[in-house]
Amino acid sequence: MIRTLGYGVQHPTASVAPFEFERRNPGPRDVLVDIAFCGVCHSDIHQARDEWGGSIFPMVPGHEIVGTVSAVGSDVRTWKQGDTVGVGVYVDSCRKCAACEAGEGQYCERGASWTYNGYEQDGTTPTYGGYSARITVDEDYVLRIPAGMDPAAAAPLMCAGITTYSPLRHFGVKAGDRLAVMGLGGLGHMAVKFGRALGVEVTVLSHSPGKRDDALRLGAGDFVVMRSPESFDANEKRFDFILDTVSAVHDYNEYLSLLRLDGTMMLVGIPDPSPLKASALISARRRLTGSNIGGVRETQEMLDFCAEHEIVSDVEVIPIQQINDAWERTIRSDVRYRFVIDMATLAG
Ligand code: NAP
Ligand code: ZN
Ligand code: ZN
Repeated sequence: MIRTLGYGVQHPTASVAPFEFERRNPGPRDVLVDIAFCGVCHSDIHQARDEWGGSIFPMVPGHEIVGTVSAVGSDVRTWKQGDTVGVGVYVDSCRKCAACEAGEGQYCERGASWTYNGYEQDGTTPTYGGYSARITVDEDYVLRIPAGMDPAAAAPLMCAGITTYSPLRHFGVKAGDRLAVMGLGGLGHMAVKFGRALGVEVTVLSHSPGKRDDALRLGAGDFVVMRSPESFDANEKRFDFILDTVSAVHDYNEYLSLLRLDGTMMLVGIPDPSPLKASALISARRRLTGSNIGGVRETQEMLDFCAEHEIVSDVEVIPIQQINDAWERTIRSDVRYRFVIDMATLAG
């Protein structure tokens, strides 16, 4: 086993603090990655505070990992020492069910192995995430970071990037469509960039008036502060699609009213749900759906799309010692637009 230094959480009300644990030695199909950067996703906070229930402690969060391959197992042909690679939200799946065969291991019928707050496919070995010095991963769950891409700004693509790219592609959002992005945070700012690259007419719906200039700079055509009943009335039946990235409780019915006939609202944010009124859907044959990150193949497609369109995340790089403050700022929507931990600070 490989002794590994990280930052972890011992119980739902604990701070994030140094924590040592063990990684497995690379097996024949494994890749050992020295972690250079790890993005800070709002899901890290939800899970560390057990807001979804069933969290596993101790927990080492982090699923937006970029690093360098430092060793490979004897059967590994795709990866070699020195490669710049990414690891995202899951590190294994059963590989046999219909979802896995379709390349969508995140929907594995037997349960994907989440990068942290989960178990390996043996069902008993806990997984630990990217707030740490290194990670051992099966070669099939490793992504190639395109040459020349800034590794710190690439890290958030591993979750915030794929989580917004996947539903836009899956539900067929296309040039000329009117898309509302709810919440300009880590996920939301990536959705705006993808929308622009796809030729979509993007409007940001926000509760933070101070983000207007950023939204327009990132590629939105319009920015609306959703604080009053008037803002909902003024935008009724305006959009073909809504991508909801909001992390806090809100009323889905109000936002559904902004969709046109046959419009689709795609949930990716995971707060507690609010009650849904049937009439909110029925009155304009609207669809409400959700999406969970994306498959490994689609994540590679997204990375290559980003390279082609010169898209990365807007990041604030922090030393790991500032992680607790970074979480508080994330909860206050005070991040432009993703914190990324510089893992070189771990030893210091
Ligand atoms: P984030 O950076 O904190 O962004 C969330 C945004 O939601 C904020 O920037 C803010 O945007 C808005 N918001 C926050 N509090 C609000 C409030 N009280 N009222 C209205 N709007 C509020 O979080 P993130 O990392 O992008 O993650 C967003 C959500 O997606 C989280 O729930 C996370 O767990 C979930 N997630 C889901 C998946 C998936 O696969 N489905 C993957 C990753 C994350 P404004 O300031 O513009 O209002
Ligand atoms: Zn995430
Ligand atoms: Zn499966």
